Amino acid sequence: MRGLGAEPPPIDKMQRTWEKTQEIIKEKVGEQFYELWFRPVELSGIKDGHAVLDIPNRFFKDWIEDNHPGLVAEALRATTNSELKVRYRIVERQDPTAKKQDNLLETRRMRLASKGIYLNPKYTFGSFVEGEGNKLAKAAAGRVAEAPGKSFNPLFVYGGVGFGKTHLVSSIGNHVVDHIRNFNVLYVSSEQFTNEVVHAVRHGKTDELKAKYRSLDLLLMDDVQFIENKAATQEELFHTLNALYESQKQIVLSSDRPPKEIKNLTDRLRSRFGMGLTVEIEPADFETKKAIIQQKASFERIVLPDEVQDFLARRIKSNIRELEGCMIRLAAHSSLTGSPIDLSMAKTVLKDIISDDEKPLTVEGIMKSVAEHYGMKVQDMKARKRSRDVAVPRQVAMFIARELTGASLSEIGKTIGGKDHATVIYACKQIAGKRARDESFNRMMDSLVNKLKP
Ligand code: ADP
Ligand code: MG
Repeated sequence: MRGLGAEPPPIDKMQRTWEKTQEIIKEKVGEQFYELWFRPVELSGIKDGHAVLDIPNRFFKDWIEDNHPGLVAEALRATTNSELKVRYRIVERQDPTAKKQDNLLETRRMRLASKGIYLNPKYTFGSFVEGEGNKLAKAAAGRVAEAPGKSFNPLFVYGGVGFGKTHLVSSIGNHVVDHIRNFNVLYVSSEQFTNEVVHAVRHGKTDELKAKYRSLDLLLMDDVQFIENKAATQEELFHTLNALYESQKQIVLSSDRPPKEIKNLTDRLRSRFGMGLTVEIEPADFETKKAIIQQKASFERIVLPDEVQDFLARRIKSNIRELEGCMIRLAAHSSLTGSPIDLSMAKTVLKDIISDDEKPLTVEGIMKSVAEHYGMKVQDMKARKRSRDVAVPRQVAMFIARELTGASLSEIGKTIGGKDHATVIYACKQIAGKRARDESFNRMMDSLVNKLKP
């Protein structure tokens, strides 16, 4: 094996080494992923035991490290016959704020690594976009992070897949690691905990396990729903939580459902889960999704036109991870082809994720959605009734139909309540006026239109 401080190899030799390395990587990850993620990567030098890889943007580093940690080093070991650490360098002009952000992230990453805490350093309160659906959960998490052990204990956060539970729970950990010295933090999934319990029981090391968990100042346990049906783990967890609680140590739990819906859970553990505060993260609405997209785009330095943002926010229902996956794809595609991201490119690149089988929007369809929004029957909207509780929804439907469909005024009138074109014009004026006067009505209209827009 060559020494770590070896002379940097000459360029053409290095080029060949890298080509060979890429071959090995291609073997491992397959043609498609290779093309997308590894071909654009260049080996710019080998120095002081480090291989420096040039990448187009941060996405490459994140994707490679998340999906194939160790692969590049392993392939390089085969081709250079030496142990090299991999360092990434983004070959892009970096503005000072971005650099500062990077440094902050790196510092946190190092600190977490040195303490052996497996938290994603990117998951912070600062990067967590607040919206109606997560406001409460975020506030509660913030309170816990400011004064761990002193407010809600345990804090139990639940919500669907990709709603941001891990991000929020991790934010508490990162905040504490950033702000409190010598605080013993552990982030663990309930699956890992289960494995630890099984291992400890099998090897007669339950005392060690107890000692480890009871010395914590902050326990973050993700996805506790996985302890369903696992009696021994539940027993151990119950005693762990009790011990922590009694010594005023903070417990934070996440789950994809509330405690009462976790099946085969002992009563006392269920009640322990719910003894502090239980908060739900609800699915992000359109505006929140858009804000998340904008934040990610600016962080990752991707230029995403407004209409592409709208397209993603509308078409990805509630899983933010999926939303990010789409952005990553677009960014990769764009940096590979050198063409900017636009709507038609987005539709093509994402066609297997987001199906484009949208039915054309009809007046009938709009009427149904508006009726649903107002909790009324479509027949009532169609009927020639004049009462006010029918009139406003009917005008709303006419307004939206005129905005979003190519239907003629008389068509719209005929479909919605058998009216003539003059009624439709009148309705549109009424609604426009009401929107200008009434801010909350205006917001409601915005969100209704956004929901319906193809
Ligand atoms: P869960 O644990 O609920 O399945 P995650 O916390 O892993 O979801 O979130 C999935 C992805 O979406 C993560 O990359 C996370 O950063 C991102 N995400 C979710 N909610 C938000 C939010 N409100 N603001 C910013 N990013 C978010
Ligand atoms: Mg999660």
